[in-house]
Amino acid sequence: MEMRIGLGHDIHRLVADRPLILGGVPIEFDRGLLGHSDADVLLHALTDALLGAVGLGDIGERFPNTEPRWAGADSAMFLSDAVSAIRELGWNIANLDCTLFAERPHLTPYKPAIRQRLAGLLEIDEVLVNVKAKSGEKVGPVGREEAISADAVVLLMRD
Ligand code: MG
Repeated sequence: MEMRIGLGHDIHRLVADRPLILGGVPIEFDRGLLGHSDADVLLHALTDALLGAVGLGDIGERFPNTEPRWAGADSAMFLSDAVSAIRELGWNIANLDCTLFAERPHLTPYKPAIRQRLAGLLEIDEVLVNVKAKSGEKVGPVGREEAISADAVVLLMRD
């Protein structure tokens, strides 16, 4: 049995007049994340973790943010691309863990929905997915409500 580990991190700025989507789940809030796509910081971190585990670079290489066709894109598409890429190489997801960092909104109530959505997008059992949420302790860009960030780590296995 071979194993690979991948790490992902992302941060996007919180701005007015944008929807907030985290882990593919719409979140009730008066601001959203700024980005070329839908700016789903968690799906971006997870996509990078998957690509990183198999040595396929990063999300920006596959989906440049200068490319007009990715404007407003649903980030679930980026994640699906990464999942297809690892599966084509014979890899399966052993488990994944991720953390969302947001001062506001309070994300704890959304964790079950995000977990379910991630498991669905990755076509794996929910027991293999863990979602954590932390505040920014009122310091730094997250703590000042200027941004939301996410970390993700994924373990892959293949026979
Ligand atoms: Mg991003």
